[in-house]
Amino acid sequence: MQNITGKIAFGGIAIGKIKEISKENNVVRRVKIEDAKAEIARFEAARDQAAEELKGLYDKAVKEVGEANAAIFEVHQMMLEDEDYLDSVRNIIEAQSVNAEFAVATTGDNFARMFADMDDDYMKERAADVKDISERVIRVLSQKEEKVNTSGAEKEKYIIAADDLAPSETVQLDKSKVLAFVTRHGSTNSHTAILARTMNIPALIGVDFPEEGVDGQFGIVDGFDAKFFVEPDEDTKAEYRKLKEENEQKKRLLQELKGKENITKDGTKINLYANIGGVSDVANVLANDAGGIGLFRSEFLYLESENYPTEEAQFAAYKTVAENMAGKKVIIRTLDIGADKQVGYFGLEKEENPAMGYRAIRICLDRTEIFKTQLRAIYRASYYGTIAIMFPMIISVNEVKKIKEIIAEVKAGLDADGIPYKDVELGIMIETPAAVMISDLLAKEVDFFSIGTNDLTQYTLAIDRQNPKLDNIYDSHHEAVLRMLKMVVDNGHKEGCWVGICGELGADETLTETFLRMGFDELSVSPSMILRIRDKIRNTDLSVK
Ligand code: PEP
Ligand code: MG
Repeated sequence: MQNITGKIAFGGIAIGKIKEISKENNVVRRVKIEDAKAEIARFEAARDQAAEELKGLYDKAVKEVGEANAAIFEVHQMMLEDEDYLDSVRNIIEAQSVNAEFAVATTGDNFARMFADMDDDYMKERAADVKDISERVIRVLSQKEEKVNTSGAEKEKYIIAADDLAPSETVQLDKSKVLAFVTRHGSTNSHTAILARTMNIPALIGVDFPEEGVDGQFGIVDGFDAKFFVEPDEDTKAEYRKLKEENEQKKRLLQELKGKENITKDGTKINLYANIGGVSDVANVLANDAGGIGLFRSEFLYLESENYPTEEAQFAAYKTVAENMAGKKVIIRTLDIGADKQVGYFGLEKEENPAMGYRAIRICLDRTEIFKTQLRAIYRASYYGTIAIMFPMIISVNEVKKIKEIIAEVKAGLDADGIPYKDVELGIMIETPAAVMISDLLAKEVDFFSIGTNDLTQYTLAIDRQNPKLDNIYDSHHEAVLRMLKMVVDNGHKEGCWVGICGELGADETLTETFLRMGFDELSVSPSMILRIRDKIRNTDLSVK
């Protein structure tokens, strides 16, 4: 038996046969050619076919994992249209009189190296994407069948093991036959990890499984404890079968908590809301019985579009969410782009320190037309449900005052056009140490605070949340962060503001009791965590010290 430790991309337990996906060692040979024109035409035909395949993959992914997560295949299609990439392939064919396969492989390597050398973590990860599209074109050129698939006659479900999985490979796998993912490489921020989470499949990354291969062997993935067992002994198998059954039993029991209150044994109540990225997540919010939406990351509407989403498109999205939530609160966070969330058409300059740069509310208060369009769409949608608005990355009272002036203009415009809207609660995200320290002043200006612990931790500890090297010291339990949370609750309450948490820490069950004792009014967590936190709350007794 081998017991190998990795990093958790998504929790859960899987037991079953391992299927190793080894990329066929596509050794690309350099072949001298006579007719460069014909070779370029052959390359272009292969590129077109690869683009067609990607379009098919995009459609499949939209259905299975939603638009936001399928967007990567659009990025791949765009890469295949990139003039620099295409020119490089054509030049190599022409200048060196070599076969298209060799030209594509060389270009793919060069571009991947270029991306890998960039400072920005997001750009670094694009190296895998450029390799992925190059391999696709080479495969088409060599007229090979796409290899990655677990469909067909195979009835068994598998633990998929691979060096790394490109997003295109992940989405091609027949989900109903995948028990878990285990990869040697990859980071928690990679698209593949995100896809695994969305697919609700246990996944481990950074697992150094044996070079000689694990295909066909028996395996256990412990996505709670980051362990991968190969050929486990009978005792381990029995132990994990029991754990898996207990876990499933827990999930079944949690279903019984639907419709129940979020109340402690001693009668303290708290609101449990859900975080979403778009309209397609609402079904999951309702299925898990969330009391509202505590964070609608509206920037995903911008990330999914090729150009600024119009007022109409935004209005339609916000209205649908408000209507589907049928009167339950929907807190829309205004555009939070910049830093790791880059949108090409905004034309933002590359910055030395993007997390501390031109982002979020700073962009909105500078490019007010974009901001006004969004606010108008939100106010129009407010008529159809219970909408609240919150603003990201606030550092001063002055910003809040400016926001209110802009809102007054937007409302005046709607009045003039005879468009109905409701009054909405206004809140801010507390995710900078500055906002924490002046939360007494900010509380006089707004109806609520929602603490973004992901950014608050990064700015308080001066640790880039995107940097995998610092993963182990990025600690949201740090006493400095916890003291800040308490300070914000107290300052908010003194002025009649309600206070919640919408960062990942809100779903940390080891702190649920602490949050209740601190007096939080709301926790907003991913939809799949709602019932677990409800369970935790209902088993807490604050009268016992
Ligand atoms: C946060 O910073 O905690 C937060 C909820 O916002 P995001 O993760 O989108 O930056
Ligand atoms: Mg944030």
